Amino acid sequence: MSNTTSSSFVDRTDALESVKGELLRGIGRVLLTEAEIHQRINELGAQISGDYAGMDPLLIGVLKGVIFFMSDLLRSISIPATVDFMAISRYDPLHKTKGPVRLIKDLDEAVEGRHLIFVEDIIDTGLTLSYLLRILKARSPASLEVCTLFNKPEHRLVDVPLRYKGFDLPDRFVVGYGLDYKGAYRHLPFLAELRPEVLQLGSK
Ligand code: 5GP
Repeated sequence: MSNTTSSSFVDRTDALESVKGELLRGIGRVLLTEAEIHQRINELGAQISGDYAGMDPLLIGVLKGVIFFMSDLLRSISIPATVDFMAISRYDPLHKTKGPVRLIKDLDEAVEGRHLIFVEDIIDTGLTLSYLLRILKARSPASLEVCTLFNKPEHRLVDVPLRYKGFDLPDRFVVGYGLDYKGAYRHLPFLAELRPEVLQLGSK
């Protein structure tokens, strides 16, 4: 399985030409261009199509960060497959802080006996993923594998099995291609770091 490691990132400043004005403000180094992301997704789609031929896999994603990846991955899969979504909240209303993961939208489909591929945008500590995998495993699927586009291995707190992985990333906060900062930047076509001053301002 090929993937890009932290050391191979170079500045792709020319990718910034695809966004304008206000949206540009705050964006730092571009780590991955739209073309690089799409190429890797096509490889993952081809791999999944080979591995799951005749199995009609169900791809499961967590809203909202995964929407672009799910849409591109699904279209790169050349065998019958279906899709479903969950939504979670990490907000603790009592303490008005980031709290434990809570399921706020469940799947529409029953998963018992199905071949599931859990599709993630990014894995950092692995805590969110392990919580959701526990829920899915309890529903007796025929199989359950994980496909993540981005992986930040340096912060891992729980070991999570990754069958398919797009890119390993350095331990930096990234935005774009579905990943947001306070709701913004999600629709950037590339993956980029934010300027440190934006993150510092946001944390005050
Ligand atoms: P974990 O439970 O693995 O620590 O966290 C996974 C979730 O944290 C992701 O689904 C995503 O919402 C968020 N996350 C982790 N790293 C980043 C990042 O670099 N950028 C953004 N925008 N979100 C991140």
